[in-house]
Amino acid sequence: MASPRESVTAYVALGANLGDARQAVNTALGAFNALPGTRLTKASSLYRTAPVDSSGPDYINAVAEVSTLLTAPNLLLALQQIEHLAGRERPYLNAPRTLDLDLLLFGAATIDSPHLTVPHPRMWDRAFVLVPLAEIAPSLVPHAALAAVQDQSIQRNLSTG
Ligand code: AMP
Repeated sequence: MASPRESVTAYVALGANLGDARQAVNTALGAFNALPGTRLTKASSLYRTAPVDSSGPDYINAVAEVSTLLTAPNLLLALQQIEHLAGRERPYLNAPRTLDLDLLLFGAATIDSPHLTVPHPRMWDRAFVLVPLAEIAPSLVPHAALAAVQDQSIQRNLSTG
């Protein structure tokens, strides 16, 4: 008999900068609880950041911790469905987006497949990921990593909900 899968703690970065970005992020946080075998266990504050490698209005960013029975590829597919439901279009590379969801960490897993790289390859370069991640999981973000992005402007001024 197959043993039941153990749940994995995963971290997801959320970002939006089109339409009602704050609502898009809050709706996505709620959607995590509707995924099979998945629970939202922590959500950071909402942050406001200037676009990096992108354009348009400021972004609203947050990081969520989820506990999930999904595999990493299936969690990524679920995140892409949530993006799709938020009406995301990709007219060109790094275009402004209604909602962007990145899988940052999946337990202690290291994954390097054509569709999925975990830990997320650019997470350590981005204050809009590291600052909210440090808020909910300080042990995962070394001080040196935060120091390395301290020149990037990020404003914590919004609470979720
Ligand atoms: P983006 O435009 O930044 O949302 O990138 C989406 C693409 O990145 C998709 O084709 C994913 O398959 C791929 N990808 C690779 N690793 C990840 C990850 N850790 N989280 C989200 N997307 C990823």
